[in-house]
Formats: sequence, structure tokens, C-alpha cells
Amino acid sequence: MVVGRFAPSPTGPLHFGSLVAAVASYCDAKSRGGQWLLRIEDVDQTRHVASASDDIIRTLQRYGFVWDGDIVYQSQRSAHYQTALAQLQQRGLAYPCTCSRKEIADSSTLLGIEGAIYPGICLQHATKPGAAAAWRIKTDAQTIRFADQMQGQQQHQMASDIGDFVVKRADGLFSYQLAVVVDDALQGVTHVVRGADLLNSTTRQIYLQQLLGYPTPVYAHIPLVLNADGQKLSKQTLATALPEDNVVATLVAALSFLKQTLPADVQSFAVADLWQWAIAHWQLPKITRR
Ligand SMILES: [Zn+2]
Repeated sequence: MVVGRFAPSPTGPLHFGSLVAAVASYCDAKSRGGQWLLRIEDVDQTRHVASASDDIIRTLQRYGFVWDGDIVYQSQRSAHYQTALAQLQQRGLAYPCTCSRKEIADSSTLLGIEGAIYPGICLQHATKPGAAAAWRIKTDAQTIRFADQMQGQQQHQMASDIGDFVVKRADGLFSYQLAVVVDDALQGVTHVVRGADLLNSTTRQIYLQQLLGYPTPVYAHIPLVLNADGQKLSKQTLATALPEDNVVATLVAALSFLKQTLPADVQSFAVADLWQWAIAHWQLPKITRR
């Protein structure tokens, strides 16, 4: 059974970039006869915009998406993340860290794919008594490899490219990486189709899957929609919300961005007929890397 998912963060309304990711994951799952799940990634409540979740759900409905099962909210799933963290702690795979950002910046000598590599201070010395601790995953010299369906072969050497990464922050919030891995496993997700901005997260997620004994889904990271300045569309780059009308024209634009074949009279289609066409003719390989 194929299970895909769309997992937006409710930091603002859906924009064209998130629609493209939703369309790609939806067509990929449905064209394989699979299920498509909707998960609201609101684990980081500090970035959560009130009412954004409801707005996203209404927009997806308006655009004709039909998800399987109940909507899952990460903000309600801390117990699952804590259980996974406890497993890692009991097996000595995670350790507490009380370092400040400045201490890490001042003592790190190695640069990884996302900046300074954590130098392992709290692995070698006692943590500061009374200070709130983050939890870090121990990384080792192994190389995690995977074949991305869009981006080809990928690999990171965990210790030198990533370093010991945080799975629970000092303020108590679970990291994106841990939450996604636990949710994908508990929800039985087999196919992850998402934006290329998450390509670099994937080796950390596979590493966690292996530590926790979870299966690894098939991954496809699709090109990002960029604005005229070459930036990813996001709340930060002031991407506009999807229009409430012109649903067919906007879906056609998303399918065109994904290089899918469309009939000449597509603009006269009803939303349901457009989806039927898009799913029947969906071809992931037509999407070109940019
Ligand atoms: Zn530390």
C-alpha cells in the first residue's frame, strides 16, 4: 500500500510554492492507487500563526484535495516524540547539551552543510547544573546514502557533514527532524514528495529511522518555486496567498510548473475533472531538475 502525505507548517496561508508540493505529493500517491494524508506541522508553536491551520485546510478543500483519514496535528503528538527520544536516551544514542549558541560558535572548528559542527563539549564534560538542556543525537563516521527520485544519489557523512544534531530543544520543543521521522513511521508513509529545501534534512531523517528501527520511505525532492529575486516563496519573502477563485487556472499553473502534459481545453475543466486527468496522466520523471 502506497501512502503519501502533505505536511504544511501553519506559519501563514498556503502560497503557490506549497500548492506545487501538495499537487506533486497528491498526484504521486493517487496515481499509485495510494492514500494521501494531511499532517499539520505545528510542533514549533512559537512560529504558529493562529488560524493558519484552518485557513490551509479550507484552501486545500477549495482546491479539490481529498485526504485520507483524520488530519494529524504535531502539536498533539508530543507523547509519541517523547517515547522515541526515551528509546534513544536509554540506548545511549542521545545526550543532554547545555551549550549556548555563542559557546558552540566559539569552540567549533569544523564546518558542516548547515554551519558549525557541534564540537561535542557536553559529551566530554559535565553539563551546566540547573541549566535547561537540549538533547543531541550522537553521530558517527558512517555515510548515509539514498537515491532521490528527482535529485539522484545523495550522501552525507554523519559526523563530518552534519555533526551531533538536536532532537529536543532546551525550551522543550521537539525538533522537526525527530517529529517528522516519528510521524512518517507511525502513519505508515511510504512515499515522501516534498520541496528540494528539505533535501539536506533527509540523511538525518534516515539516520534516525535506522536508530529507531523504522523503514525508510522513497523520497522525491521537487524543484522549488522561486520569486523574481530567486528566493524560495515563503512567508518571509512575502509570497501571496493562493487566490480563492481561479482554482482551475491556479492548479493548471502548478501542473505546468511540474511539466505535466495538459489538454488544450484544460481551462474549461471542472476541478474534479482536472484532478482526474492530472492523476491519470501523472509522470514524476517529467519534472525537471532546476
Ligand atoms: Zn553542549
